[in-house]
Amino acid sequence: MRLAGLQKTSVIDFPDQISAVVFTQGCNFHCSYCHNSQLIPLKLPSGKELMPESYFFGFLEQRQNLLDGVTITGGEPLLQSDLKDFLFKIKNDYNLLIKLDTNGSNSSELKKLMEADLIDYLAVDLKFSWSNYKQLAPEALVSEIKSSVELIIDSNLDYEFRTTVVPSLHDKEELEKIAQQIKGAEKYFVQNFRPVNTLDPGLKDQRSFAPSELEKFKLAAEKYLKNVQIRD
Ligand code: SF4
Repeated sequence: MRLAGLQKTSVIDFPDQISAVVFTQGCNFHCSYCHNSQLIPLKLPSGKELMPESYFFGFLEQRQNLLDGVTITGGEPLLQSDLKDFLFKIKNDYNLLIKLDTNGSNSSELKKLMEADLIDYLAVDLKFSWSNYKQLAPEALVSEIKSSVELIIDSNLDYEFRTTVVPSLHDKEELEKIAQQIKGAEKYFVQNFRPVNTLDPGLKDQRSFAPSELEKFKLAAEKYLKNVQIRD
């Protein structure tokens, strides 16, 4: 596993659970608003080092009794070729729950993890409506995300879809389209953009949405989804 770092305790990343958060190195997207842009390159710049897996498991050895689970985030965790073994070890050797964050662009790997019952909570970022995804990802990856969405909605997994909304990228019509495309989904979160440490430096001067605007997005999404919440 290419591990970039560890947040030892979080009460906000894994719903209703106290979790450690482990960050994987490498992502196949370049979202302009990404707050973790240092995690995008697969190869680290010289002078930077990955976190040894032995350090992470040594930490779990000491803290497993104080944690309910582990949140695996990135970067894009599904790019890691040994993710399945990593999750298996967390669940079986340390008896901890697993939350996985993903951009949904690798449906076959996701399916394998779901079939092996290695995910307790899944959070999938939906960046745009399908027609607008082309500004971020090639058609092949958009097809993968569509397959992931179908797979997840048809599953018994505890999951959420979520969209980070950015004033220059999203509006009410876009949110309505995204919601329509995931009709039947259990939970959808509209997450406000924060102009901090963004991949595109130009976004650092951009505002977040006002609460009243987020409320309009929520109402638009509720045309198609029964459980829409705002994260501001
Ligand atoms: S926001 Fe997520 S999917 Fe987008 S570049 Fe950053 S880590 Fe990758």
